[in-house]
Amino acid sequence: MQDIVHNLDVIHQRMKNACLQSGRPEDAVRLLLATKTVSEENLRFAVGQGEVLLGENRVQDGSRMAEKIKDLPVEWHFIGHLQTNKIKEVLRWATCIQSVDRTDLVEKLDQRLQFEQRKTDVFVQVNTSYEPSKFGVEPEKALDLIREVMRYDTLNLKGLMTIGLFSAEAERVRKCFQVLAGIRNQALELGFEHLELSMGMSGDLEIAIEEGATIIRVGTAIFGPRVYPDSFYWNEGSVKPTGNSS
Ligand SMILES: *Cc1c(COP(=O)(O)O)cnc(C)c1O
Repeated sequence: MQDIVHNLDVIHQRMKNACLQSGRPEDAVRLLLATKTVSEENLRFAVGQGEVLLGENRVQDGSRMAEKIKDLPVEWHFIGHLQTNKIKEVLRWATCIQSVDRTDLVEKLDQRLQFEQRKTDVFVQVNTSYEPSKFGVEPEKALDLIREVMRYDTLNLKGLMTIGLFSAEAERVRKCFQVLAGIRNQALELGFEHLELSMGMSGDLEIAIEEGATIIRVGTAIFGPRVYPDSFYWNEGSVKPTGNSS
């Protein structure tokens, strides 16, 4: 637990430094805790430290954890690949879907929300690294998808999300974040007053903040390494080996 206190301290210091570095106010960036594989105990502890913005990749895991900690004043975002048959379930606990990446998902979300007579916040996820292993709409098609989202009263477009290239070459990572910021600037011309940029993780949050991130999503640097590689969480329909605790 002391590790988590220390790690959160380090992250907030890194956020602060990156804001200073880029001339942005210290409160310009929010920290979202990536909760995949995190235990209830550790998550409760981190929330107790004042972290209230949580993001989960897998619908089932999110449902389970949201139920377990429903006494806590947290805000859940969904940040993983969303299959349309999981829409009903994810809307029970997530107030924002950060991973809207295709037209059929937009349509199905609208259908369900109309049925429930309510709205939800969404981000459009863009595949700024063009890696086939990652989800997200291609940058060239992002504005079309944004216009599509705008057609539905049930969907409040709050921003854009991306996962940067995994690379030690900072300039190539930076390019991804610049692409997302560029799309945001174009989207603002469609009539939005403000759009968030959800970008930056444990390894690249400074670059993301320098390029304008307003939400960074951090897991490993707070909770330690995961058992499964990230590709596991990002691959459609991948099934967890049985016998594992989470
Ligand atoms: C796991 C995950 C993160 C956090 O990644 P870390 O490297 O553990 O900080 C951020 N965004 C998404 C979509 C994730 O799946």
